[in-house]
Amino acid sequence: MEVKTEIGNVYERLTVIEFSCIDERRHARWMVACSCGSQTFEVLGYNLRRGRTRSCGCLQIEAAAKMGRNNRHAARTNYKENQNGKAS
Ligand SMILES: [Zn+2]
Repeated sequence: MEVKTEIGNVYERLTVIEFSCIDERRHARWMVACSCGSQTFEVLGYNLRRGRTRSCGCLQIEAAAKMGRNNRHAARTNYKENQNGKAS
């Protein structure tokens, strides 16, 4: 089975560095580096092409931090209010 090389391709923050292996389901796996400077790791080629893997996880963490800032503040405020309501 011939594997179309992904080496050098960039998917959002990930750059494909080298071929890893064909797994037991005959899917190509690749070693990638994230632009945030994390360690290289292995991903499935089709996840890269489908845009399902776009970073080492830092993108999701950043998105969650952005979205969660206001939500966390609101949750904390409500929690305090509830605590005060129950107290005494
Ligand atoms: Zn990253």
